[in-house]
Amino acid sequence: MTSYDAIVIGTGQAGPPLAAKLASAGQKVAIVERKLFGGTCVNTGCIPTKAMVASAYAAHIARKGGEYGVSIEGPIHVDMARVKARKDQISGQSRSSVESWLKGLANCTVYEGHALFLGPQTIQVSNSLLTAPHIFINVGGRASIPKLPGLDQIPYLNNSSMMAVDYLPHHLLVVGGSYVGLEFAQMFRRFGSEVTVIEKAPRLIHREDEDVSATVREILEKEGIRIELSSECIRFAKRGEDVTVGLDCKDSAREVTGSHVLLALGRRPNTDDLGLEKAGVAVDEKGFITVDDSLRTNVPGIWALGDCNGRGGFTHTSYNDYEIVAGDLLNGENRKVSDRITAYALYIDPPLGRAGMTDDEIRRSGRKALSGQRPMTKVGRAVEKGESQGFMKITVDAETKEILGAAILGIGGDEAIHCILDTMYAKQPYTTLQRAMHIHPTVAELIPTMLGELKPL
Ligand SMILES: Cc1cc2nc3c(=O)[nH]c(=O)nc-3n(C[C@H](O)[C@H](O)[C@H](O)COP(=O)(O)OP(=O)(O)OC[C@H]3O[C@@H](n4cnc5c(N)ncnc54)[C@H](O)[C@@H]3O)c2cc1C
Repeated sequence: MTSYDAIVIGTGQAGPPLAAKLASAGQKVAIVERKLFGGTCVNTGCIPTKAMVASAYAAHIARKGGEYGVSIEGPIHVDMARVKARKDQISGQSRSSVESWLKGLANCTVYEGHALFLGPQTIQVSNSLLTAPHIFINVGGRASIPKLPGLDQIPYLNNSSMMAVDYLPHHLLVVGGSYVGLEFAQMFRRFGSEVTVIEKAPRLIHREDEDVSATVREILEKEGIRIELSSECIRFAKRGEDVTVGLDCKDSAREVTGSHVLLALGRRPNTDDLGLEKAGVAVDEKGFITVDDSLRTNVPGIWALGDCNGRGGFTHTSYNDYEIVAGDLLNGENRKVSDRITAYALYIDPPLGRAGMTDDEIRRSGRKALSGQRPMTKVGRAVEKGESQGFMKITVDAETKEILGAAILGIGGDEAIHCILDTMYAKQPYTTLQRAMHIHPTVAELIPTMLGELKPL
């Protein structure tokens, strides 16, 4: 049995910086990884998908070069093997830099293998037994594969196996019309596949406001993606080399046939094979580890960070979890999860940047609110770039002038949303942002203008 001050399980977005911080503070640290250093974001999530989105964007712009006065002779060909090689190079570089960073850290020992709790302070990794008074769980999650009729009869892909695709699927059926599914749908359409998105709900990304969902749908349909909503009875059958997906409970003829199926039906935490019961760590009904506002589990000395605690689901929320725990333990900062403001992006093109509450949530809260909107056709920067799809909107509290929420669905939306987000963090009234002088020509320059045209929500 080897004793440490701290054991970190998993090398996702929170584990490595936490291990490094504790080790640099003089603690004796062990960090355990069972598969790929860097976890989901680096290997099968954000980084490789955004690299592929960039290749898809290049194909898209090449195809419409004529609109900009740039002629490219002949059809645009996408070499999928090179798309994959580029993605592998970017993702691989990131993975090896996490690995070499951790292996080079003073006071930190890296264990490669599956970590299993034997008790609240004891972990087994292969033949090694480790013990520590502080254990940090950062085990992330994986694609959720629900039991759908016929699924066991067909081959299917998920976000991890998609990473090995170096060919062009003739017709990709994307089951799940939310964040992960839509990014893959648009990129493969731009690579040249036929694409159908199958969604159970009556609209795409149904946690967003209806105007956002509708505009995202318009953007995707304009590129030739077929969208099947209200598909309440999804079932699968093999048809020769192809796969047929039945969609409707009443109308059995409503079905779609394609060459490949990608399941993008949410994520589940990697907590079922960790021996949590031996440590007495509580999980909720979906398997997420229950934590308090400082990310402490019910067992003293054990914390859970990142996707496995169900409090985030993004790289930036996992990294923020690290900052909360490290700030608490090393500097007594008393930071809380509930202090952070919802923020994320959907990386279709143009992207959606989101901050704070949706308009639906604001209406349900009963607050008196004012809202401003602007189509991207009235944003000079978007028009100049020939990318004027989408819109931006912002909603504020009519009495306190606090910014409550915003969405920028348009070119640069993932970046421009930060001027709104940071004003919210600074707890400044919207009038501060309204009076700021922004740079021309940018997308963000229209945010103050939009704030001058507020109407009741
Ligand atoms: C397709 C896709 C695209 C995404 N795009 C974005 C995006 O653009 N922006 C964004 O913010 N988020 C994105 N995400 C989400 C983001 O990837 C995750 O939120 C983020 O990686 C969470 O990291 P984590 O720290 O919780 O753990 P993870 O990154 O999942 O890492 C957990 C690590 O723990 C290891 N592990 C698990 N169990 C054990 C065990 N028992 N013993 C030892 N090691 C173990 C795993 O092997 C893994 O390496 C995307 C996700 C997907 C699937």
